[in-house]
Amino acid sequence: MNEYDSNRILELTKKINFFSTSDVNEADCYVLNTCHIREKATEKVYHHIGRIKKKFKDKKKPIVIIAGCVAQAEGEVLLKKEKYIDAVIGPQSYHEINNIILEKNKAKNLKVNKTEFDVIRKFDELNLIKNRENKVSSFLTIQEGCDKFCKFCVVPYTRGPEHSRSFSEVINEADQLIENGTKEIILLGQNVNAYNYKGKKISDLIYELNKKTKLERIRYTTSHPNDFSDDLVEAHRDCKKLMPILHLPIQSGSSYILKKMNRNHTREEYFKILDKLLKVNSSMKFSSDFIIAYPGETQDDFEKTISLIKKVKFINSYSYIYSERPGTPAAKLKKINEDVAKERLVKFQIIANEIKKNYRQGLVNSFVKVLFENKSKDKNSYFGRDEYFNSVMVKSSSNLCGLIKNVKVKDWTHNTLYGELNDASKPKEFAA
Ligand code: SAM
Ligand code: SF4
Repeated sequence: MNEYDSNRILELTKKINFFSTSDVNEADCYVLNTCHIREKATEKVYHHIGRIKKKFKDKKKPIVIIAGCVAQAEGEVLLKKEKYIDAVIGPQSYHEINNIILEKNKAKNLKVNKTEFDVIRKFDELNLIKNRENKVSSFLTIQEGCDKFCKFCVVPYTRGPEHSRSFSEVINEADQLIENGTKEIILLGQNVNAYNYKGKKISDLIYELNKKTKLERIRYTTSHPNDFSDDLVEAHRDCKKLMPILHLPIQSGSSYILKKMNRNHTREEYFKILDKLLKVNSSMKFSSDFIIAYPGETQDDFEKTISLIKKVKFINSYSYIYSERPGTPAAKLKKINEDVAKERLVKFQIIANEIKKNYRQGLVNSFVKVLFENKSKDKNSYFGRDEYFNSVMVKSSSNLCGLIKNVKVKDWTHNTLYGELNDASKPKEFAA
């Protein structure tokens, strides 16, 4: 979502003749877009500012703006502690950036703190600015914020309450992206399947996008088990452009811990969703997020998480040790011993990696359908993603960008599949 936001910030600033530069040294304005989800986020900001200070030691100081969730959570403290920072803008206030830059240019000593939850105004202003993103695969925010208040999470405090953009706003922006050459749209939201605009749900958006002839692929992230209604399951049956991969965070395999986290669903209910999806589309695969060593997690609870990953065989498991976030209810709970936590994380990751390794090894000599996104630095290689969002590299002397090709997997690493083009593959016929 920060990538989407950063692109929109860039589009906004073009209005006042500010453009992105690949050479930091020549920047007149420096925007650092931040994430606050795990610890050390604020320290990273101070480190980064330290580096910028060094770079501009003998030059004119740029306007320095901290955007995103660290700005929202720690704005006033940042401004007081680090004088080099000129402004902080929360994730729902970044439509104000041009005013801040213009005012700052007039009053050198001005310090600005914009951290209101003004999400409706933000999107009203953004709708006036075309989304000129011309990537093969583009993000599109449809929903923001969260009302779920999991006990460990800062998002409800930093991004604010749930807000869904209007159906027509989203489709208009999708049309702009498709016109610019986008072939894949990734619908985004903190709880993307909580999208609800006057009764229109995410499934309605997917059915609508599925009709767009020039669009090849649709994905969405991140969804929450509690909002996984049957209409979305059916979309996976009906919409051929909707990719057969679902990232559905569960956090823990123990229903007891899920309850303590305030996730409001059990392990069994999670399995039911996956079963329903597999029933309508047997090629579905899954990935998930895990929090290891949440306060109160016993060895038995941890083993339940292990048994869950062995059962589902997630093709990607993102795992982190529980990170205490100031202001969240879980911050008051007694933390698990650090050595035990690290031991559990290592065990989890060994097993998760073994599952991933077996999956990837099984792909060798099979064919995957790849939508190519760009040429890599090594001039003759192209980067793309298969239907399951796996990164794929192939060598080719002709331009593959924007095409879907059948690729035979020859080798793999943890991050990338390496393949060769199947001579018989033709661009259009292999569209999902
Ligand atoms: N809304 C999504 C959901 O509930 O599944 C997830 C969004 S959250 C921004 C992304 C991931 O960050 C979560 O799935 C969780 O695993 C991780 N996360 C959030 N707070 C955390 C914390 N305090 N410690 C460790 N991981 C955390
Ligand atoms: Fe955070 Fe997701 Fe829980 Fe919302 S549902 S509080 S974003 S983990």
